[in-house]
Amino acid sequence: MINYYDNIILLTCVTLYLNAMNVTSVIASASVLRKGHCSSDGIIMWKIIILCTIIGLITTEKATFHNYKVFRITPITTEQVELLRQLVETDEFSFWKEPTAVNIEVDLMVAPHKLPMFYEIMAQIEAPHSIYVENVQTLIDQTTNANQSTSFNFKDYYTIWQIYENLDDLAKQYPDKVKIIVGGKTYQKREIKGVKISFKANNPGIFIEGGNHGREWISPATVMYILHQLLISEDPDVRALAENHDWYIFPVFNPDGYEYTHTTNRMWRKTRDVHGFFCRGSDPNRNWSYKWKSGGSSSFGCSETYAGKAPFSDVETKSMSEYIKTISNKFYAYISFHSYSQLLMFPYGYTKAHLENYEDSLAIAAKSVRSLKKRYGTEYRIGNIGEILYLASGNTADYIKGVYHKPIVFVYELRDRGNYGFLLPPEQIIPTGEETLDSLVTLFKEAKALGYPKDV
Ligand SMILES: [Zn+2]
Repeated sequence: MINYYDNIILLTCVTLYLNAMNVTSVIASASVLRKGHCSSDGIIMWKIIILCTIIGLITTEKATFHNYKVFRITPITTEQVELLRQLVETDEFSFWKEPTAVNIEVDLMVAPHKLPMFYEIMAQIEAPHSIYVENVQTLIDQTTNANQSTSFNFKDYYTIWQIYENLDDLAKQYPDKVKIIVGGKTYQKREIKGVKISFKANNPGIFIEGGNHGREWISPATVMYILHQLLISEDPDVRALAENHDWYIFPVFNPDGYEYTHTTNRMWRKTRDVHGFFCRGSDPNRNWSYKWKSGGSSSFGCSETYAGKAPFSDVETKSMSEYIKTISNKFYAYISFHSYSQLLMFPYGYTKAHLENYEDSLAIAAKSVRSLKKRYGTEYRIGNIGEILYLASGNTADYIKGVYHKPIVFVYELRDRGNYGFLLPPEQIIPTGEETLDSLVTLFKEAKALGYPKDV
């Protein structure tokens, strides 16, 4: 099996030149915009930086992020947004939060050896920016303390195996209510395991998707918290929500990617499928067949948003889509959990056009985030994915909406707004779970008030 670092070194040697050309073109574009000409000094500098990068990347097994910084950039003109979007394509930097619109913050992780490049680009683009996370590794160390607890207590993040073991335990503990379901499989031969929870026959179904992107640890944690509450909560509203639905819950849609974030690279997002010589993984939220690659995804195999070779080219999305087909008449609602940004969104992502029940979706979202805010004051923005975030085609929400026309489809971007980003401290798992469940109670109350599900 090809090692990540072998990949990355090879990749760096062969592709950085191309990337540098792209980055240089970003600089050139900025320069042209600013001064009406571009500088050739920058090109020489990139070549030096590339050489340093290659040397710097011959490194250890486990990825570390010492002195990696996260910058918050606030584009104040459409040109700046456009130039930052060009940087996404170069793959030189890791965007924690991609550029979307004027005055919407962008979070960008920069390796220490790329700081000169970053500062030169910023000097050219002239967008306001500041350091938001001083040292990514320090945050990683703070948020990944080894979990010593033998109980599943939500005081820490859990590995894929601890989560699966807990699902098995729950199935044993509640044999008449909880059944293990295996929805799909992964490139590295793991199961995509979930549970079906049912308190009585003929309930309308809700499908819950977590852990689509590896590094978004708060997603599986929140899904597991909600799953537990559906079984044990004594709150009458939660009981009504739990017992009047059938639940199809998959805490980790991308087990290989999630496991990889625990063992090797905390910042990994994609699957671990091998699709070429250099880079691994497709974005499992860009590989679904509905309107595949029609905006907001990349053809570059090393990109964080690589759409894959073809729709369902990755076994994770293909096998899960086949499973979903088998239960497609059993659920009317699909809820997906990502992080971060504090957004409650609905399809579509491939277009900014409004879906058929846009007004209902907006009304439901508005009331849901009001409920979410009550407990801890956490504020969410709402809207359709394409408008509020950026175009993102080939995602699960678009697929469920576009192919199966499900009326209730929502995507959460959970806490926070960038103070910790993907590295949300474990102390925030329970509060995030509590407020998110508050919002789900309202979401389904409001859906019911508006007559959903209409066909059950
Ligand atoms: Zn995500």
